[in-house]
Amino acid sequence: MEITINQLSKSYGNVKALKDVSCTFTEGVYGLLGPNGAGKTTLINIIVNNLEQDAGQVLLDGTDIRMMGAKYRELIGFMPQQQSLFDSFTAVRFLGYMGTLKGMSGKQLKTRIDEVLEMVNLTDAAGKRLGSFSGGMKQRILIAQAILNDPKILILDEPTAGLDPRERIRIRNLISEISFKKFVLLATHVVQDIEFISNEILILKEGRLIAKAPHDKILEVMEGKVYELRLKEDELPKVSAKYRICSILKDSDSVIIRVLSDCIPPEYDSRPVKPMLEDLYLYLFDERFPVDVYGLFAS
Ligand code: ADP
Repeated sequence: MEITINQLSKSYGNVKALKDVSCTFTEGVYGLLGPNGAGKTTLINIIVNNLEQDAGQVLLDGTDIRMMGAKYRELIGFMPQQQSLFDSFTAVRFLGYMGTLKGMSGKQLKTRIDEVLEMVNLTDAAGKRLGSFSGGMKQRILIAQAILNDPKILILDEPTAGLDPRERIRIRNLISEISFKKFVLLATHVVQDIEFISNEILILKEGRLIAKAPHDKILEVMEGKVYELRLKEDELPKVSAKYRICSILKDSDSVIIRVLSDCIPPEYDSRPVKPMLEDLYLYLFDERFPVDVYGLFAS
């Protein structure tokens, strides 16, 4: 299975939400990263065929998805961003309703509902109303409806929005478990959501796809740009005026800070450290220190 995104563009009035986006996907987990407003939801809505692009195509094995109709919908599982849940429905009734919309029925649907509830660890809450669910449970039931039809293409828009770290880890592990032999596209502005579960990471900025590569490869641009400095606390303001600070750790008589710099900061006790995805995100999106992101990943 191959999904090809071919020169996609989309505007809302004067706002250009997507600008000439092209890339190819096969099976695996793809993390779509970018700040709010980058165009992630727009791209996802076009891929699931909920939104019409102004130009370009989405092709599945060479066929424009707009030509495929119900055949394409059968392959898709979609978890949208908004939790537009039916609060008075029980979990089972909600899944039954969503299954019916996907053309499922009878014993097959009933068995599958039991299976997906088990997969998302909500069997005990099967008869509970969605209105009483926690944020994490709501996200899990939304994932459950997305995988009801065992889709080959699974699209998740901000699946961990509003969750505490424990629930976030649980959702992340669940996505890894269910992603076998599927194409999974997971949009988020939270680096940790995708850092260790994505085969490839895509970065969108202002509607443009600026990078698409495996985790290690995408971090190559940060080699020699991340340093740990040890200094006195009163030196902190000077450092923060000059460098992007990723983290600050205080110990008894000094502070250890992680900074981004194009060369080793000569005025401090510094040592280079291994870059992480969060460093790259800060490098690309810190408005105080703009960089030319478009030339950065050209190979
Ligand atoms: P993201 O999901 O990365 O936050 P979106 O795709 O939601 O980005 O938005 C991309 C840009 O398009 C933003 O500037 C946003 O304000 C704008 N936008 C999105 N949806 C609409 C809409 N329905 N009408 C007008 N502008 C929109």
